[in-house]
Amino acid sequence: MAATIIDGRAIAERVRAEVAREVAALTERTGQPPGLATILVGDDPASAIYVANKRKACAEAGIADHHQHLGSEASQDEVASLIEECNRDPEVSGILLQLPVPAGLDGAGLTSLIAPEKDVDGLTPVSAGRLAQGTPGLRPCTPLGVIELLDSYDVALEGAEAVVVGRSDLVGKPVAALLLARNATVTICHSRTRDLAAVCARADVLVAAVGLPLLIGADYVKPGAAVIDVGVNRTPDGLRGDVDFDAAAERAALITPVPGGVGPMTIAMLLRNTVTAAKLQQVPAGPVH
Ligand code: NAP
Repeated sequence: MAATIIDGRAIAERVRAEVAREVAALTERTGQPPGLATILVGDDPASAIYVANKRKACAEAGIADHHQHLGSEASQDEVASLIEECNRDPEVSGILLQLPVPAGLDGAGLTSLIAPEKDVDGLTPVSAGRLAQGTPGLRPCTPLGVIELLDSYDVALEGAEAVVVGRSDLVGKPVAALLLARNATVTICHSRTRDLAAVCARADVLVAAVGLPLLIGADYVKPGAAVIDVGVNRTPDGLRGDVDFDAAAERAALITPVPGGVGPMTIAMLLRNTVTAAKLQQVPAGPVH
């Protein structure tokens, strides 16, 4: 294997330790810890586990837990009222509505009610618009994690050919926007892209966010590229990314494993966003910066 394996667990640990130090300093200065309101609606077991992991990570970093759990029978208005309440609560720095919400509720509509300065998932239309326009705001966690991994390994982004495979609002589009903001030359690929292998093979930085196991083979990888695999796919052989790791690692200079690459970064960046949000809310009036 030629490639250096990017250690997402170690980088996430480092970020979490940095966040814990910032939380301690902020708490000492203001007398109040940053707080995160995770909102879980219904009893989906996977969502319950995701939320539990986020709360545990918050507690470890010293972030106050303002968790809210509504039953699956909660109406759109009830969830909306809870979000508005959290928007007004000065002890809540960040709000995270766990998606998907139960059938019958409009998850996107509810997300859009989160105040932009508390939008620690970076998924509201206001946050997406700010990212698209390159103005300050809270950015989505997994895409931030991708950039943190690249920065941690000193990957040059300015002027680099970056190819992002996937164009979701959650991952592909915001990763592309963050790479563009760092002056990479960005191509976004999707299910209708012609000759995906040839486009990917141009990339100095290749980010796969598709959800198809082992889609990205050796011939998709430019020798010396940095390959970031966001994909998480459950296969009969275990958890796999979108990248054929063994084949790609023969050509790449840097590559993330699955698990242990991008995965641990998402919660780490949620914690960092919560601290960023708390700081934003201390700025008296005026636009979010
Ligand atoms: P998504 O909403 O399903 O989007 C998938 C994207 O891949 C779409 O843009 C789709 O194109 C594109 N695509 C599908 N088939 C393709 C093909 N054959 N060639 C090229 N592009 C193709 O998924 P997502 O939410 O972005 O998530 C992507 C992956 O990342 C999933 O495996 C997910 O589990 C994982 N993920 C991981 C984390 C983490 O923390 N590690 C966080 C979020 C997501 P169209 O737009 O044309 O349909």
